[in-house]
Amino acid sequence: MKKIKRIAVLTSGGDAPGMNAAIRSVVRTCAHYRIDCIGVFRGYQGLIEGDFVPMSARSVSSIINKGGTMLKSARSDEFRTKAGRKKAFENLKEAEIDGLILIGGDGSFTGGLKFNSEFNFPLIGIPGTIDNDIFGTDYTIGYDTALNTVVEVIDKIRDTASSHNRLFFVEVMGRDAGFIALNAGVGAGAEEILIPEENLGLERLLESLKRSKRAGKSSSIVVVAEGDKLGKNVFELRDYVEEHLPEYEVRVSVLGHMQRGGTPSCFDRVLASRLGVKAVELLLDGHSTLMVGIVNTKIESCPIKDAISGHHIINKELIRVSDIMSV
Ligand code: ATP
Repeated sequence: MKKIKRIAVLTSGGDAPGMNAAIRSVVRTCAHYRIDCIGVFRGYQGLIEGDFVPMSARSVSSIINKGGTMLKSARSDEFRTKAGRKKAFENLKEAEIDGLILIGGDGSFTGGLKFNSEFNFPLIGIPGTIDNDIFGTDYTIGYDTALNTVVEVIDKIRDTASSHNRLFFVEVMGRDAGFIALNAGVGAGAEEILIPEENLGLERLLESLKRSKRAGKSSSIVVVAEGDKLGKNVFELRDYVEEHLPEYEVRVSVLGHMQRGGTPSCFDRVLASRLGVKAVELLLDGHSTLMVGIVNTKIESCPIKDAISGHHIINKELIRVSDIMSV
């Protein structure tokens, strides 16, 4: 096996708070082991275009507290083609890079696995996405920060909701997974939480809202994940509820990209620092196609193929807690 002397790191897919802390950790772990670290700008597209920069321990000063990613992120259609991946491989070879660390979500890992199967290029994945939808880790980098952002915003919306006796539908990110909606919903005291994993049903939603009114609640917050199964977007839901419960004045708030930004939480910074160290050490120990993660507070690794094929299951106990709390 070839000894690893130079590692490249990139961020791919949607940005997530804490990605900078992960880059910093990878760079400084390389410095610790006296190997070269190369940053790749704009994810796989930068790999294809050879957009590389040498990174020293000092080049990542003062980024641990910054959201986004200093290496920029991108979605690359060219990397989905064999020709694009071949260009990427040739650039890595020319720059004498021996291993790659990918910070991203399941799409980035799928691309990385394909790349490895074609060129046998060593790589390790670090889960960086606010969605927390990756199997093999209890938490992804960025999720905790996004949760705190959502709770803070819902707290503010609640001030308006209760001052005007209004019902608010708050849409949060989560096309395929309801982790943000469920946890932020419980944390912010939402009356109902609609997630892709569960179909509450429109009738039950109306029943629940009627019950809230009868119980003397003058305002309500319903948190809706983007990918909720009711088959209506949040604006159609508003129209439906206003039609069937005219006593409610309904407002909609779509939180959108604000959920991705901002200063990473301490939890995300620590997680990113731990995962970065483990990722570099795995590459140096001759491992490849593994993803690092945190499981029961311990840093572990699992095959990337398991991480992208398995499903991180929503916590049913939290659904029960939410139901009990909305009495
Ligand atoms: P997030 O969860 O935040 O959306 P992600 O990593 O899942 O992050 P994607 O846009 O799905 O984001 O994937 C990032 C990039 O990975 C794509 O732009 C593409 O370059 C590459 N990629 C994804 N799927 C494949 C695939 N099947 N084959 C080759 N490359 C892929």
